Amino acid sequence: MRRLLDAGPQSIGNGPARGRFAPSPTGPLHFGSLVAALASFLEARRCGGEWLLRIEDLDTPRSVPGATDAILRALDRHGLHWDGPVWYQSQRREGYEAALERLSRAGLAYPCTCTRRELATLSIHASDGGPIYPGHCRDGIRQPGRPAAIRLRVTDTPLAFQDAVQGSYAQDLEREVGDFVIRRTDGLFAYQLAVVVDDAAQGITQIVRGGDLLDSTPRQIYLQTLLGLPTPAYAHLPVAVDRRGHKLGKQTGAAPLDLDKPGLALMAALRFLGQNPPFELGGAPILAWACTHWRLERVPPIPARRWDPRRAREPAPDGLTQAIELLDLER
Ligand SMILES: [Zn+2]
Repeated sequence: MRRLLDAGPQSIGNGPARGRFAPSPTGPLHFGSLVAALASFLEARRCGGEWLLRIEDLDTPRSVPGATDAILRALDRHGLHWDGPVWYQSQRREGYEAALERLSRAGLAYPCTCTRRELATLSIHASDGGPIYPGHCRDGIRQPGRPAAIRLRVTDTPLAFQDAVQGSYAQDLEREVGDFVIRRTDGLFAYQLAVVVDDAAQGITQIVRGGDLLDSTPRQIYLQTLLGLPTPAYAHLPVAVDRRGHKLGKQTGAAPLDLDKPGLALMAALRFLGQNPPFELGGAPILAWACTHWRLERVPPIPARRWDPRRAREPAPDGLTQAIELLDLER
């Protein structure tokens, strides 16, 4: 595995760097989301690039009222200031419609009436746990009259890319994923399509995000190719997981960031990302240190990393910040 990033102080893409952070408004920011926000911010800022913010509020049933405001406030408190206006996927429907139209006209998209339940009985499963779609409706829907999702035809050509942290990654979409949904039965556009359309519309050149999205990336590159859009550079970070190996998140009870102690969380996130900030920095100067010293090549190339928030301790009484330790540096 070789990383892209040997060459000097340049961005992982060519030309002016433009990165982004794209949270879903399903709850307040927690440690895991701070890791992604911070790394994407630092990688963009390192070379004087821009860092944009996009709220992925496409899945309106899962959106939590007030979550967007809480996210913006938390980013601000941690000194992660974004460029330009905040984008909202809920206002981008026309862009997704146009992309779907283009794919449909090219004969690449088709309606599918298979239910999740019907597909769940299949024994072959993709790496993300979902069933590999066997192409039941490729030549016409099976159950006319039922609501239909729209799927994208894939091919069995292996699709490979070089991830700046995880190294080379390849996937055969037909064998490992199957034709995938780009518009859901309920009419909402799927994440895979929306993210590709928005990254291109915002001129994103580098995508730094959690490793849980590594195996979505070939689908996104495939879509970029079909839609004639540029492919950004990718870097997938280790995902913060709890003792049981579950991704930190609202569902697993991850605590919201403490907005009164941004320095502590930034310190912990930098250590999680393999950077080595001096403990004596504490408080606010930590972000200034990080902007100068950030190195993507120090991020450990592992998909998941255990982290226990209880280990991010308080400053000691003598004013020196005690160790903010990772519970376990192993896989
Ligand atoms: Zn089907």
